[in-house]
Amino acid sequence: MDEKKLIKCSVCNGMISKRAKTCPHCGEPKPNELEWYVYVIVYGGIIIFFGGCAWFLGQLIEWVRDILDF
Ligand SMILES: [Zn+2]
Repeated sequence: MDEKKLIKCSVCNGMISKRAKTCPHCGEPKPNELEWYVYVIVYGGIIIFFGGCAWFLGQLIEWVRDILDF
């Protein structure tokens, strides 16, 4: 068996095939995939972060314009 194709189950830490649909040790469905809310939190966080940066830069430009009196 090719060991590179084995990964750890996120639930029981048993070695399972990357292609396994369920963990043969604990029966966890989709042991290779992160929960959907992990993606929501990560992508939502990235969007909020860049949105916040864009807003902050816009405010910064306004403040600089006020200070320099363009
Ligand atoms: Zn497992």
